[in-house]
Amino acid sequence: MSIDVTRDAEGLRQAINEMLEQGFAQGRVARSLDDSDDSGRERIFGSLPPLTLSPGYYKRAEYLLWLEKCKNTGLASGDFSMAEADGLMAVAEARAEFERNHPPCGVCGALQDSPFATTCHKCGTDFVRRSA
Ligand SMILES: [Zn+2]
Repeated sequence: MSIDVTRDAEGLRQAINEMLEQGFAQGRVARSLDDSDDSGRERIFGSLPPLTLSPGYYKRAEYLLWLEKCKNTGLASGDFSMAEADGLMAVAEARAEFERNHPPCGVCGALQDSPFATTCHKCGTDFVRRSA
């Protein structure tokens, strides 16, 4: 049985989120990659969040992220198919989820490892917790 990934909005949302997470993690380790040896590199790559779905999802997710970029830069507008419109919705949801998990520092804008970070990993600003 083959799954039509373009119709699996939940799967796509997950695939996009995993790609965003992986891109973020790669950006965070890029510096340590520069000054490690081969075994260090292997360890770092091993620590990246895994992609858990079948490759078709990531191909589609890549396409949707590209489509989103076209849309945002005005290169594409209006005429999306139903599947594309659904896909763009999945992108928006995945981005919202990603941003909840990685809130930006109010001072330097760096995305944090988690919403529970107490200091910015980049500029060292202490985050003051707002009491609920
Ligand atoms: Zn900062």
